[in-house]
Amino acid sequence: MNIVLLGPPGGGKGTQAKRLEDRFGLKQLSTGDMLRAAVAAGTDTGKKAKAVMDAGGLVSDDIIIAMIDERLSQADCRSGAIFDGFPRTAAQAEALDRLLASRGSRLDHAIELKADEEVLVQRIAGRYSCKRCGAGYHDHFQRPKTDGVCDACGGSEFVRRDDDKPDTVRARLEAYRLQTAPILPYYERQALLTRLDGMATMDEVTGQLEALLRKPVKR
Ligand code: ADP
Ligand code: ZN
Repeated sequence: MNIVLLGPPGGGKGTQAKRLEDRFGLKQLSTGDMLRAAVAAGTDTGKKAKAVMDAGGLVSDDIIIAMIDERLSQADCRSGAIFDGFPRTAAQAEALDRLLASRGSRLDHAIELKADEEVLVQRIAGRYSCKRCGAGYHDHFQRPKTDGVCDACGGSEFVRRDDDKPDTVRARLEAYRLQTAPILPYYERQALLTRLDGMATMDEVTGQLEALLRKPVKR
């Protein structure tokens, strides 16, 4: 099964993708995480992407498509993937169809987590994650059970993203509105699109996603 999660930054795609990974045996492929890893490792891709990411813009389609192509060839993606933060442009959506088709596979669902922009700025401004395992937290909405200790791995170091500053967040929301939201009709035409309310609680959204993914896919 292959699933695309769409929706504005901060809408909960990453959190939901991590939850579905375990429950459905799928691999989360987050182009944002891959790019941040490339930046941290100082690769050529990382060097090209850094300035664009810090400004809240979109990294070029060529770079993104090559990254996904390479990743899909690895063994852990064989039983399917949850694409998180990809595709973000029409060219990427078409490329994904080609990449899956060339591996004898296809997309089963495109799911939009709809969200309200003002709430997103608040959500993003307070978020951080565990440095060791990547578990996500929030200053107001999702604190660890014990202050300063990761619920998932017991780690005590946390990190915030460079691009989670309010001005950059607004640029990212605009990139979503102008470049990514226009691909929703592409999936709607293929009857692949489901829209969910991303403003519901994390658990409610997870419940709705699970119900959807448990239903047999009609083709
Ligand atoms: P969010 O969904 O919270 O904005 P991501 O982690 O998905 O964050 O992406 C962070 C940044 O990485 C984006 O603002 C963009 O610069 C870059 N990026 C990630 N995925 C893509 C993509 N598919 N196409 C172009 N740029 C991307
Ligand atoms: Zn942790």
